[in-house]
Amino acid sequence: MRFIIFGPPGAGKGTYASRLGSKLKIPKISTGDMFREAIKQDTDLGKRVAQFVNKGELVPDKVAIEILEERISKPDSENGFILDGYPRTIAEAKALDQSPTMDAIIRLIVPEWVIIERLSNRRTCRNCGAIYNVKYLKPKKEGVCDRCGGELYQREDDKPKVIRERLRVYEAQTRALIDYYKGKVPFVDIECRSVDVPPETIVKKIQRKLQKMSLIK
Ligand code: ADP
Ligand code: ZN
Repeated sequence: MRFIIFGPPGAGKGTYASRLGSKLKIPKISTGDMFREAIKQDTDLGKRVAQFVNKGELVPDKVAIEILEERISKPDSENGFILDGYPRTIAEAKALDQSPTMDAIIRLIVPEWVIIERLSNRRTCRNCGAIYNVKYLKPKKEGVCDRCGGELYQREDDKPKVIRERLRVYEAQTRALIDYYKGKVPFVDIECRSVDVPPETIVKKIQRKLQKMSLIK
């Protein structure tokens, strides 16, 4: 079970991947989460990547590749994983080609207005990284994470100016991966044409499609 969840920023990759991961008992591996954690802890890695992440630019390939390779070599990844936010460039995809091939790319197809609506209303737990939306996916108690009680905040890169930059970067560098993987790895296309579909509905849709392809039980 080696999957990539793919789509523009704000498509819901993190939300769906973490739910799907717990159902399949495989980790969701998010390079974005790892970078944010490093920034929060102010580690050497954090210091190296903060300027890129906060501006909505990509972290240099070399850094992203190294982090990802280290992460997928951990024992919990043996039965598989869901990559969220990796690869984002052709160079990252080529590095990933060095390890066993992926079983599927779960591609989220989302119109731009949904993306803007999601990102600008998104809140993230400072402690565990859980994702909420002040309009569509509210926590039980305002500003507080349901899962761990942590504080919810707006990511620096979820502010309008940086959102525009992230979308630009996606178009310029990440979209090309669709052609890169065409014919190499099967695509599972999932359309999300509205903002208020519960994540569970989408996750079930993904599960059904993966089952049909005999990729999961
Ligand atoms: P998104 O909601 O846009 O999918 P992520 O949480 O996945 O955001 O990533 C946040 C930021 O972390 C990106 O804008 C980028 O700066 C950095 N980042 C995450 N993954 C990668 C990667 N694979 N390669 C380069 N930069 C990355
Ligand atoms: Zn939390």
